[in-house]
Amino acid sequence: MSERLPALFISHGAPTLVIEDHPARHFLAGLAATLPRPRAILVVSAHWETAVPAVTVSMAPQTVHDFGGFPQELYGLRYPAPGDPALAGRVMELLGQSGLQAVADYRRGLDHGAWVPLMLAWPAADAPVVQLSLQTARGPGHHLALGAALSGLRDEGVLVIGSGSATHDLSGWHGHGLHDDPVPHAREFAQWLAAAVAAGDAAEVLDFRRRAPHAQRNHPTDEHFLPLLVAWGAGGSATPGRCIHASFAHGVLAMDAYAFH
Ligand code: ZN
Repeated sequence: MSERLPALFISHGAPTLVIEDHPARHFLAGLAATLPRPRAILVVSAHWETAVPAVTVSMAPQTVHDFGGFPQELYGLRYPAPGDPALAGRVMELLGQSGLQAVADYRRGLDHGAWVPLMLAWPAADAPVVQLSLQTARGPGHHLALGAALSGLRDEGVLVIGSGSATHDLSGWHGHGLHDDPVPHAREFAQWLAAAVAAGDAAEVLDFRRRAPHAQRNHPTDEHFLPLLVAWGAGGSATPGRCIHASFAHGVLAMDAYAFH
């Protein structure tokens, strides 16, 4: 049996994180040294939403450049990690045992919510990577349950990563430089989240639409927040999380990361 891994929530920021200098980039570059070596990595990214849970089944997943209007060099980047069809099968099995029927997706590659942080943290791309989709319409509780169903993977050498953004007010991006101080509405939301995670108060976070300050402004839609709940569920939803990184990009993106175990 492998050493038990934490489950992580990572804020992936803009795709340009891989080519820009930022504290979140340095955090990711040093992340692997703080963890047992994962046998494989399962990523739940904000950028893959489906009606029912879907799992990538590919020996060699493509690098998907699912963004527009960014510097040309980003479109030439590849993250050549192998896939892991056996792990994909295990994910579907565990979800099925929890009453969460999942389907295989044989065509889907790795979106930038997965490959941007992985390229910084595991540049050798030697750990196999599988992605699992979000079901945004099914809300926060479903995603906590999705993570909880997968918590056993942490004993099997699998690192579960939820990749989203602690705050995600893209409408507020314009006019801000990468290193600008946080705007108050983003800072207040990030502080609320940090306090709730540190207290192990998953109920507070599940009800973030009503309880968090400026929830609508920081998360006009749910998809960048839900990966946090998958990570929390995988780490043990009654346990506090540990903040392993906090910074801001463009004044409105909290780049915070949490470990749950
Ligand atoms: Zn994103």
